[in-house]
Amino acid sequence: METHGLPKMISQAGPRHANPSAFPEADELARWDREHVWHAFTQMAEYEPLLIERGQGCKLIDIDGRAYLDGVSSLWCNLHGHRHPTIDAAICEQLSKLAHTTSLGASNSTTIRLARRLVELAPAGLEHVFFSDDGATAVEVAIKLAFQYWRQCPKPRPQKNLFLALGDAYHGDTLGSVSVGGVARFHALFEPLLFEVARLPAPRSDRAPPGAAAAGALDHHLGQLEAALQEHHERIAAMVIEPLMQCAAGMIAHPEGYLRGARELTRRYGVLLIADEVAVGFGRTGKMFACEHEGISPDLLCLAKGMTGGYLPLAATLASDDIWRAFLGRHEDSRHFFHGHTYGGNPLGAAAALASLDVFEQERVLERLPEKIERLRQHLATIAQLEHVGDVRQRGLIAGVELMRDRATATPYEPGERRGWRACLHAREHGVLLRPLGDVVVLMPPLAVSLEELDQIAAAAAAGIQAACSD
Ligand SMILES: *Cc1c(COP(=O)(O)O)cnc(C)c1O
Repeated sequence: METHGLPKMISQAGPRHANPSAFPEADELARWDREHVWHAFTQMAEYEPLLIERGQGCKLIDIDGRAYLDGVSSLWCNLHGHRHPTIDAAICEQLSKLAHTTSLGASNSTTIRLARRLVELAPAGLEHVFFSDDGATAVEVAIKLAFQYWRQCPKPRPQKNLFLALGDAYHGDTLGSVSVGGVARFHALFEPLLFEVARLPAPRSDRAPPGAAAAGALDHHLGQLEAALQEHHERIAAMVIEPLMQCAAGMIAHPEGYLRGARELTRRYGVLLIADEVAVGFGRTGKMFACEHEGISPDLLCLAKGMTGGYLPLAATLASDDIWRAFLGRHEDSRHFFHGHTYGGNPLGAAAALASLDVFEQERVLERLPEKIERLRQHLATIAQLEHVGDVRQRGLIAGVELMRDRATATPYEPGERRGWRACLHAREHGVLLRPLGDVVVLMPPLAVSLEELDQIAAAAAAGIQAACSD
């Protein structure tokens, strides 16, 4: 793998900081960061601060003036780059009118417009939008809506109180979304607090199911799903699925046709389908929504991460008309949805989201993706040749590179060796910020990434992997 000609972004970034007084300030901030900010998914005893001060396009610039490419879209949410003028202006304009008002029994014009726009864009039949603020809350809302629906629909089925989810699923970190999640590393500890879930093995397209050829993976996994539905459908309220790609699991790609099959089977057995597009939505897979690849509409659709272009926390759960109608009645019937978040549907977030959708149109973002996706594919094909790369998996601009001690025998590294993490730290020396999932190095650049920036990200990832796996 060629790694010469790597961009020397660190040395290009110039002096540590234009203002010399920033030196002590930076050290003090780093100390306060360690002492006072409790970082998510981070061992604070070992935490090394990385202090980002500014962003520009696909670059992030730290407090010392060093520039890095944002190789994982600031944790999978940035779409059009940082400080995009259209989104910046939309937020400022909204700010000049209203920063926040409640969505409990009231509304504002920006949030209404966003709801309308989401309904127009989303798969057919999803006409009602419940706003919250994060991916986990979008899933939480979908679970509670599904549960309540079966108690209030025209033919109530109150025994439907079980959810069906997939192995290694990730749906967020609140207790409902952890219950349907299945990543042991994150979730096992909280087991006593979780509700019961029926779980099927993740339908991996890259590994042959037991007793079947890889080519038979689709039939095998749909057969398994049908058997589970046949046996338990009277108790199952909904199936929860991350369409096409289970990202947090380490980029597990489903066999083509699985989503369509799951839609047909859940419909046949009277089970709702919840599509969690928090990670894959808003263009990441090459289409606006992953469900479009298989021509399906779920009953409930969860959106978050990319919705505001990666600017502000805002999430939405879209519901079918059938579900919506089950919640209508007179106040004293208590059929309405007893759930809400103070900042749900926040107008600043809605303004950012509307502007992000404008950028999709103005910059023909989706039309320009295929050549970026192809360039990423080419780089991954090269990376796949590296000695300790066991597998590469890609869907659109989402990619995972799995490191292994011995690829011939598919022997993983000991988790304690932290090879994925080390590869990402080395990539940082080449001016690219990455964050791994265990030993899977994730590449998920903003949709706005240029071909040249993609080249830099791939080269830094390759160099990082080689450095981390050289012993
Ligand atoms: C990130 C993620 C979530 C949780 O979103 P938060 O905004 O972090 O709460 C839920 N589902 C999927 C598929 C995700 O990738």
